[in-house]
Amino acid sequence: MDPKTFRQHAHQFVDWMADYMEQVEQYPVKSQVRPGEIYDKIPARLPEEGVAMDQIFRDFQREIIPGMTHWQSPHFYAYFPANVSPPSILAEMLISTMGAQCMKWETSPAAAELEERVMEWLRDAMGLPGSWEGVIQDTASTATLAALLCARERQSNYEINEQGFEGFTNYRVYCSTETHSSIEKGVKIAGFGKQNLVKIAVDEQLAMRADLLEQAIEADLSAGYQPLCIVVATGTTGTTAIDPLLAIGDIAQKHGIWLHVDAAYAGSALLLPEYQWMIEGIEKADSFVFNPHKWLLTNFDCTAYFVKDSRALVNTFAILPEYLKTRTDGQVNNYCDWGIPLGRRFRALKLWFVLRYYGLAGLQEKLRGHMTMATWLEEQIKASSDFTVLTPRNLNLVCFHYTPQGATDIAALNPLNEALLHRLNDTGKIFLTHTKIRGVYTLRMVIGQTSVEQRHVEAAWALIATTARSLAEYKINK
Ligand SMILES: *Cc1c(COP(=O)(O)O)cnc(C)c1O
Repeated sequence: MDPKTFRQHAHQFVDWMADYMEQVEQYPVKSQVRPGEIYDKIPARLPEEGVAMDQIFRDFQREIIPGMTHWQSPHFYAYFPANVSPPSILAEMLISTMGAQCMKWETSPAAAELEERVMEWLRDAMGLPGSWEGVIQDTASTATLAALLCARERQSNYEINEQGFEGFTNYRVYCSTETHSSIEKGVKIAGFGKQNLVKIAVDEQLAMRADLLEQAIEADLSAGYQPLCIVVATGTTGTTAIDPLLAIGDIAQKHGIWLHVDAAYAGSALLLPEYQWMIEGIEKADSFVFNPHKWLLTNFDCTAYFVKDSRALVNTFAILPEYLKTRTDGQVNNYCDWGIPLGRRFRALKLWFVLRYYGLAGLQEKLRGHMTMATWLEEQIKASSDFTVLTPRNLNLVCFHYTPQGATDIAALNPLNEALLHRLNDTGKIFLTHTKIRGVYTLRMVIGQTSVEQRHVEAAWALIATTARSLAEYKINK
């Protein structure tokens, strides 16, 4: 494709992109296709001859779009958001046009030095210790795996990397019963064995009980295990519960255990001074991860990983084959040595665009707006006679269920609420997901999409209430 043709298509696509942003709330937010429907529309063989871009673009609109769930719709309240924003999209266009591999300083000095700076910006704005260093990873799952590997190597004096596990066994990793599945995945990949992930029970607020953690560690020590790493959840995926970092930090320090903080979603809220309480005690931790690609208006993928001592990262991951040796080794940061993959996209650029375009004040306003709307919703639910809030709200996630006539029988309420969730999602007007809290089927509503406004939340709440009441009537009459 010559640059002239490219220019024409690009202009056409940019028009489509702006139209999409304007119209996204009119699409069914959750794709309504059946399994196999899209697959069956795609020809079984790759085309022998090239196809005109106009044709490809038409097929994209006709065949692909119906199979998309619209994560950028303001009717999206499911999981956690994967927000984009216009400045981030514009940066992505530039990043993909340059297509640079940003593994070493020399492969693009601007990428390495901009990454160093924007990580410092975030570190300072989020109240992380000023001596810590940051690096961008692809996902929180990867960052947590990196933390587990660094903990392993520091504990074994970097011997497992050299000779394998011979003589180094019995490692234990601790997290609460509510932590994200990526911890278990990391424990498996790092070679500790899933059975050596100790899940600590939680309190009423679904936060880890530090006293039970202490007991588990003491018991493990007397049984001959080696406590290696504790993962604190700052904002669990189910309910955004906040583990007590200060108390857990004391335990980690007392026993010399690596302390990793998983704030994948909630970390963005640290830009607000009123949420600094979430990381009281952070100076006792060794590593901290959060995802700008969730709530902070930056396209997936972009994970910010911060560490107390970058030497542990570099000692664990650095490899220097002949073809990667450069004149500047030792003077600059080569971020391929700060994580698992060699190749790295220029992710710092989109973060730089977002942070500069909105500024701290603009981002704070966005986050506070989400908190205000979530507070409003929580108040509506509390004031209604037939819905119940299930866990105290920490941020912008409201957890609730439908309890007609104050019903409390879980055996009847769980199927009713499950039916309600499917009924709502099938309308295409709103998308929610669920969790279970102590066996109770719970609707999760996250109010954090880039473009969600109060009018959307009001319409969503009206839809939830009328759908629930019609469903209960239908069930009772049947
Ligand atoms: C979303 C989430 C993760 C996983 O994030 P990825 O970037 O998709 O790997 C981990 N922990 C928590 C608490 C999360 O909410």
